[in-house]
Amino acid sequence: MTEVILIKYGELTLKGLNRRSFEERLIKSLKNALAPLGEFSFSSAQSTLTITPQNGVDVTPAVQRIGKVFGIAAYCRAACLPKDMGSLLENAGKFLEEDLLGAKTFKCESKRADKTFPLGSPQISAALGERLLAAFPHLSVDVHNPDVTVISEVRERNIFVHGTQLKGAGGLPSGSSGRALLMISGGIDSPVAGWMMARRGLDLTAVHFASPPYTGPKAEKKVHILMEKVAAYTGGSYLHTVQFTKVQEEIKRNCPEELGTVLTRRMMMRVAEKIARNERAEALITGENLGQVASQTLQALASTDSVCAMPVFRPLIGMDKQEIIAIARKIGTFDTSILPYEDCCTVFTPKRPRTKPKADLVAKAEMALDIDKLVEACIAGAVGQVVKN
Ligand code: ATP
Ligand code: MG
Repeated sequence: MTEVILIKYGELTLKGLNRRSFEERLIKSLKNALAPLGEFSFSSAQSTLTITPQNGVDVTPAVQRIGKVFGIAAYCRAACLPKDMGSLLENAGKFLEEDLLGAKTFKCESKRADKTFPLGSPQISAALGERLLAAFPHLSVDVHNPDVTVISEVRERNIFVHGTQLKGAGGLPSGSSGRALLMISGGIDSPVAGWMMARRGLDLTAVHFASPPYTGPKAEKKVHILMEKVAAYTGGSYLHTVQFTKVQEEIKRNCPEELGTVLTRRMMMRVAEKIARNERAEALITGENLGQVASQTLQALASTDSVCAMPVFRPLIGMDKQEIIAIARKIGTFDTSILPYEDCCTVFTPKRPRTKPKADLVAKAEMALDIDKLVEACIAGAVGQVVKN
C-alpha cells in the first residue's frame, strides 16, 4: 500500500485561463517546502495534486510543511490502491486504523471520477461501511456529525482512500500576485500584515529601519527571526536593514517635536519606495491600523501616503488588536514580537505627537531637511540578508 498526500486546490480552480501558471507556482512552492526532506514526485488531475514520497521518505514532516503552503484549500494523507473493490475493502481499515480506533462514529463517502467503475458511489460507500463496522465493532454510523469521514476517490488509475481532510493555509500560491516590500518593525503587527498579503500571492521582500546605537543588534536579530517565521509560509525572503539614525537625529534637531512621528514615517516611506523599485516590488505593506497610535490617524496616514506613489497595502487597517494577536499566535510570530527590544520609532517618540498633522506645517518642517541626500544615504548604507524558510 503506497501512502501519498492529496492536495486540493483552493481558489485556484476559479482562475480560468491563469490556472496553469497558478498550478505551476503551487507545485514550485511545494517542491521548495519539501526539498529538505527528500525526494517526492508530483502529478495533477481534476483539481487534485498527488504527492508521492520516493525511496521511503517519511510523510509526517512533509504533511506539517504542506500546512503552511499558500494556495491549498485542503490536504490529507491517503492510501493509493489498485482500482478494485477487493483492495479497497481490504486496505481502508488498515490504513485508517488509528483514526477509527480513536473514533466513536464514522461515515463513508465516495467520489467516482471514473464513471466506468462497476459500482456507483452509494454502493462503494455502503460496502466499505459494512466492512468497517465488522472490523471495528465499537463504531457506529453517524451521517450528520461523524468523528471520522472515510472518503474513497475512484480516479483514473487508482482508488485513493483517506480520512477527514485537513484545512490548508488557503490563499493564492506565493508569487502569483507579484512582489511587495514589507516594512517590518519587530512589533506584533507588521509580520501579521506581511503574512496576510503573502497569502494573497505576494512574494515578500522586507525592509527594517534600525537606529544604532539607540537600537541594538538584538532588535535586528529579532526582526530576522520574525522574517524567518513568515518565510516558513512564503518559502524565503530578503531583508534590507537601513541605518536610520542620521534621519531621526536630523528630524529631532531641526523640526518641531510634535511633528517628529509623521516626519519619520514620511522618510521611511520614501526610503522604502526606493528600495521597492530597486527590488522590482510594486507595492509597500505596513502593519498600520486605523486609530491605533498617533501616526495612524486618518490624517497621519494621508500624510504618509502622499509621499509615496506606489500602492500601500495595510491589511490590518480595520482589525481589532485581539484579532491581530490571534493571527500572530497562529502563525507563530507572537512570542518573538513581544520580546522587549526598542524599535527606532519608540526611541524617538515625541511626548505629544500631533494626531492631525496639517499638510502646510509638515511641508514647512521638511524644508529644514535635505530629503534627497538623507534618502540616498539610507539606500547606500542598507545591508541585505537572505532569509531562509
Ligand atoms: P508594529 O506592531 O508592526 O510595530 P505598531 O502598531 O507598533 O506596528 P508603528 O510603530 O506606528 O505601529 O508602525 C506602523 C508600521 O510602520 C509598522 O507596522 C511597520 O509596517 C512600519 N514600521 C514601524 N517601525 C518600523 C521599522 N523600524 N522598520 C520598518 N518598518 C517599520
Ligand atoms: Mg511598532
